[in-house]
Amino acid sequence: IKKENVRNFSIIAHIDHGKSTLADRILEKTKALTDREMKEQFLDAMDLERERGITIKLNAVQLKYGANNGDDYLFHLIDTPGHVDFTYEVSRSLAACEGALLVVDAAQGIEAQTLANVYLALDNDLEIIPVINKIDLPGADVERVKQEIEDVIGIDADDAILASAKDGVGIDEILERIVTDIPAPSGKSENPTKALIFDSLYDSYRGVIAYICVKEGSLKVGDEIKMMQTDKTFQVSDLGVFTPNPVSKEELTVGDVGFLTASIKNVGDSRVGDTITLAKQPAEEPLPGYKRLNPMVYCGLFPVESDNYNDLREALERLELNDSSLQYEAETSQALGFGFRCGFLGLLHMEIIQERIEREFNIELITTAPSVIYEVELTTDEVINIENPSLMPEGKNVKEVREPFVQATIMVPSDFIGPVMEICEKKRGNYVDMQYLDEHRVNIVYDIPLSEIVYDFFDQLKSQTKGYASFDYELSGYRASNLVKMDILLNGETIDALSFIVHRDFAFHRGKQIAEKLKDLIPRQQFEVPVQATIGNKVIARSTIKAMRKNVLSKCYGGDISRKRKLLEKQKEGKKRMKMVGKVEIPQEAFMSVLEMN
Ligand code: GDP
Ligand code: MG
Repeated sequence: IKKENVRNFSIIAHIDHGKSTLADRILEKTKALTDREMKEQFLDAMDLERERGITIKLNAVQLKYGANNGDDYLFHLIDTPGHVDFTYEVSRSLAACEGALLVVDAAQGIEAQTLANVYLALDNDLEIIPVINKIDLPGADVERVKQEIEDVIGIDADDAILASAKDGVGIDEILERIVTDIPAPSGKSENPTKALIFDSLYDSYRGVIAYICVKEGSLKVGDEIKMMQTDKTFQVSDLGVFTPNPVSKEELTVGDVGFLTASIKNVGDSRVGDTITLAKQPAEEPLPGYKRLNPMVYCGLFPVESDNYNDLREALERLELNDSSLQYEAETSQALGFGFRCGFLGLLHMEIIQERIEREFNIELITTAPSVIYEVELTTDEVINIENPSLMPEGKNVKEVREPFVQATIMVPSDFIGPVMEICEKKRGNYVDMQYLDEHRVNIVYDIPLSEIVYDFFDQLKSQTKGYASFDYELSGYRASNLVKMDILLNGETIDALSFIVHRDFAFHRGKQIAEKLKDLIPRQQFEVPVQATIGNKVIARSTIKAMRKNVLSKCYGGDISRKRKLLEKQKEGKKRMKMVGKVEIPQEAFMSVLEMN
């Protein structure tokens, strides 16, 4: 199939608008899979993705399509992750395409991530084909959604495709429009080679598998290649495409999308966004837009059983092979012992890694509350980054403390403007803008400290808007803030893993809340345990965990033995996530309690 008949495209959508279902229908129609192979939502491969209904890892599938004009076409469908934590990966996978299907739920309309994804697609100069999905729903309002697409995104929605991915309606039209509307890749096979890495993952047999799109020139098995950002060289051992099962090829050329292996040991050597060229005839300039990903959120990970420390290190090493944006370094906490301080792209990324460590490596974790990175300027003019609240310097030698702010975009029905603004104000947000999307829906923009987003912002937003709000954010910069470190003392001892940073205006309130909360969360011990919240050396709140009254088991003496066993088992179960700190036993929830403050 000649280059003019290649179409590289992606599907972009807000979560749940039907991207995966549509991808499945397209795979079915192009007979990419036999029925036996066809399983629901083929592109969402990892168990965790399937369970959470989100797409984490990108994939590229090659499809053959016989068009109505009699020609055969080669499609590459490139999947993108759907969550704000993975924006950069979305952007890179879109850079591998010339066009995108923009899927909008006919009953919901445009949501925050629809808009965020459209901007990324426009940044990458993609041809956008609007698809209004779920027209089978009783609440579908095609005219309203068309109007929104025109007003908010500013693209013509007259010829938007009306579809129901569920019922297979509109799929033929989508395939034809991919042929007619999306341009073929524009590079030249005789130019010096440039291939974009838009994803990479680690396979224990073959090393790193890089997902690539050849933008200029070509690549052959045996070629000596160079990564343009790191200058590292490797020899290509295998090339191929996904149909969707991997099929090896001797050569990939302009417009091809597929995989490459080259005995690369670590995904850090094949970074998403980097350009591959030939070591002998290198391209002069890499493809645009490479960005090193830096973590936005940090937390401590500690094994419940200290014997598992080495297992935890191995788990992190293994996960890092697959995820170059995961960062970690050894951390020692007086309270929790040996563990790791880990950096993540966002909260979802953090949850996914924690869950994988527990599931795939069977290590029980105590995790500390997530924290953002603070910038501290000292009186010596030195600027240091603090990602662990307990290490925040205090006192005379601190000139200024700065924290990261994000621009938050919130879309809601106009009935909820009041509650949304109230939450944003309470979260120290600064109003930026508000626009009506149509008579019923608005787009509200606020500048908010990232740390406040981390603290249950989205949960509050959802509950105050009955789940109607959609939300997206991007980092907007560091600003000075009046921040202080709050320490928590149990039984007179500072528990470093419970320290957190708080705005001075909220310090008193949060101190009181957390002292009360810990009193409830920490089980009674044999003795009375005072809880204190302090700033500097000043106690601002206190509470007391009363001593245990009597042995719980005594109730069962003489009673039925199975009930007693059950009680013991239940206690053991409950103990799993406890950590002895000094003489006090602290449950996992206590370390997260700061997240629920408001
Ligand atoms: P994604 O998050 O964008 O990948 O969305 P999914 O493809 O996972 O779909 C989200 C939900 O919407 C699933 O329960 C689908 O079954 C459902 N869905 C997808 N397309 C349609 C459609 O055309 N009509 C209806 N009624 N439901 C759909
Ligand atoms: Mg999906």
